[in-house]
Amino acid sequence: MATQICPKFKVDSFNWKVDEDESPLTIWDCGNCNYRAFENETDERNCSNCGKKTESKLKDNKKEYWWCSNCSTTKEIKKTMSARIKRDIEKHKENNKRIVELAKRDVKKYKKDLYGNKENDNGKDSE
Ligand SMILES: [Zn+2]
Ligand SMILES: [Zn+2]
Repeated sequence: MATQICPKFKVDSFNWKVDEDESPLTIWDCGNCNYRAFENETDERNCSNCGKKTESKLKDNKKEYWWCSNCSTTKEIKKTMSARIKRDIEKHKENNKRIVELAKRDVKKYKKDLYGNKENDNGKDSE
């Protein structure tokens, strides 16, 4: 098994092993900088850079990212937290829009009632 480019310092000494005692995931160790990451082999996709299905998800103690073993591109995965916050913001925006719409409708209705009454009153007064 040939070594791969370590995603940390781009040195060709990244090697994988499987050790059921340590982790159910594939363990990647760098012989150069001792960087360690875990690969979830169920997550594999086509690399958007080189087009080969050699991109897999690596996870270290700080972050999770896509890593292509063919062209050694890395793409950091945004935490699910921020995705949830984004969704919440969208929901709030949607709610605000609805509230504004309702308020506008109320104002319109109020104005109509007001004008309507005024016109009627005026009409009555002038007659
Ligand atoms: Zn390294
Ligand atoms: Zn690639």
